[in-house]
Amino acid sequence: MAAIDTPHAVDSTHHTKTYHGACFCGAVQLSVSGAPAGMGYCHCDSCRHWSAGPVNAFTLWKPDAVKVTKGADQIGSFHKTPHSDRKWCKTCGGHLFTKHPGMGLVDVYAAVIPDFPFEPGVHVNYQETHLRMKDGLPKLKDFPAELGGSGIAVAE
Ligand SMILES: [Zn+2]
Ligand SMILES: [Zn+2]
Repeated sequence: MAAIDTPHAVDSTHHTKTYHGACFCGAVQLSVSGAPAGMGYCHCDSCRHWSAGPVNAFTLWKPDAVKVTKGADQIGSFHKTPHSDRKWCKTCGGHLFTKHPGMGLVDVYAAVIPDFPFEPGVHVNYQETHLRMKDGLPKLKDFPAELGGSGIAVAE
């Protein structure tokens, strides 16, 4: 088979905008390319506990769209559940991204790609919220149905 159908052959930097990000100290650098599969806020207990913040602003990407451009050997990894493989910088402790193998997506935290135009579309796991956000966006009890959740909307 010709290699023309591989993602690398199709992915042209002429047509795909790339945004750069880094951990807190800069030892790990990464880029994301193209358009994310989804953006929003997660209110789940795991995101809150791991991030030590009330909510997590997420951008979800196909794995091919995320590249570690520097410091790959500095990336630490922990998974409490098989659903989320969390990555951080071993030098500064700054969080980087979380792989979601079941979804086939990578969550690159909006906070680590400051130049990326973050446009949240949904709040997920709102049943676990500790910080209500009355921004008019849809609030899902857990996850969208297409990602294996109930898809049920709840009040702000
Ligand atoms: Zn760092
Ligand atoms: Zn979460």
